Amino acid sequence: MTTISTIENCPPPSAGVLLRTEPDRNCPLCPRLAAFRESARAREPKWYNSPVSSFGDPDGRLLIVGLAPGLQGANRTGRPFTGDYAGDLLYATLLEYGFAKGVYQARPDDGLTLVDCRISNAVRCVPPQNKPLPAEINSCRPFLAATIETMPRLRAIMALGRVAHESTLKALGVRSSAAPFAHGAVHPAGTWKLYDSYHCSRYNTNTRVLTPEMFRSVFAQVRADLG
Ligand code: SF4
Repeated sequence: MTTISTIENCPPPSAGVLLRTEPDRNCPLCPRLAAFRESARAREPKWYNSPVSSFGDPDGRLLIVGLAPGLQGANRTGRPFTGDYAGDLLYATLLEYGFAKGVYQARPDDGLTLVDCRISNAVRCVPPQNKPLPAEINSCRPFLAATIETMPRLRAIMALGRVAHESTLKALGVRSSAAPFAHGAVHPAGTWKLYDSYHCSRYNTNTRVLTPEMFRSVFAQVRADLG
């Protein structure tokens, strides 16, 4: 069941912070991730192996925030959630609810476009074992904050997993105690609403932490609210 909590006095997301939405290809801010990136470039020179840019419509009303690029997904292909299982479920659901059009073929040149929607990640570089460190999440947050701030029509943010939820709250300047993470929770925050979902990773779906039906229910709520 959807739970709704209200965040009082939500300030503007990132007044006074860096308004740069995309990091450099060789962003040095996280030494561990930069070293991991370099080792991947040496091992797989045909892969993307760089910070993954946001994908979709900057004028969209929906922003989806994931955790970080998957090693063989976005880190390989260069487009968020493209090329691994998480993308299969996410893009199928976006197509079903009218937030994408075309045919998803798990490659960045498949012609798929997002409709009224953008996808980004809390951390732009692939982390070892899909686990960014707190300092790395903090270092990458200005790019997320700038992404939010430069979407003038933004009304809905969907956080995929707790890390994305917490980093989005910090980007919005909201205390995490005011908006605890729970699958299906909706947190009104100023002119936005923050929607929580468990991450659509293969692990979560294999263990039934997240079923496709549970994932669809969050999108159904967003679609109902946005119209
Ligand atoms: S995770 Fe973000 S801040 Fe860290 S090196 Fe990559 S792009 Fe830079």
